[in-house]
Amino acid sequence: MYIHRRVDIMEFYVGKTRILIIRGDITEQNTDAIVNAANNSLMGGGGVDGAIHRKGGPTILEECRKIRENKWQNGLPTGNAVITKGGNLEARYVIHTVGPVWGGGDLGEPELLASAYRNSLSLAVSQGLRTIAFPSISTGAYSYPIEKASRVALKTVVEFLKGEDQLDEVVFVLFSSPALDRYRDIARELMTT
Ligand code: ADP
Repeated sequence: MYIHRRVDIMEFYVGKTRILIIRGDITEQNTDAIVNAANNSLMGGGGVDGAIHRKGGPTILEECRKIRENKWQNGLPTGNAVITKGGNLEARYVIHTVGPVWGGGDLGEPELLASAYRNSLSLAVSQGLRTIAFPSISTGAYSYPIEKASRVALKTVVEFLKGEDQLDEVVFVLFSSPALDRYRDIARELMTT
């Protein structure tokens, strides 16, 4: 009998940075930072955001409140990123970024999504971090189609890493098998072009 064994991890390198594509829960990652798909308010929400605040505890929200008071009184603009400690999470830091709400694709969504990834990576580098884990930003409540979002995510990260060698590892943590499959398909495609 032929048994098909699914291998749920994909790995490749850009320079000396390892990129991992895995299925899992972002709140369980032990990278230096995990990225939160936050909203402009930084005051928590559903999906990844809710899970991170629930598991990380109230100190994260406290820090977000201070960031709002000190710099972003009207909310964090879409595409930007800020950093807090990780509270009770295994990750030492949480990078909060805001992806775009999908509105059909002609409202600057690809560039805003790319900015969310780029600014998160820049912040990690400027803080001296070496490992970072991303969820699939904007593809839940914000309805960005996964095929399009995964392409932007992977392309942006690969481009960033071509000009930066401080990071040891970037992990894409997908919550579902279909999302994992899409990311793996796009990664394979990008590697052969
Ligand atoms: P957005 O508002 O940016 O769309 P969501 O949190 O609604 O953010 O969803 C983003 C993606 O994160 C979705 O693909 C969703 O399935 C996934 N997701 C939800 N919870 C988790 C989690 N705990 N770990 C990793 N990914 C998650």
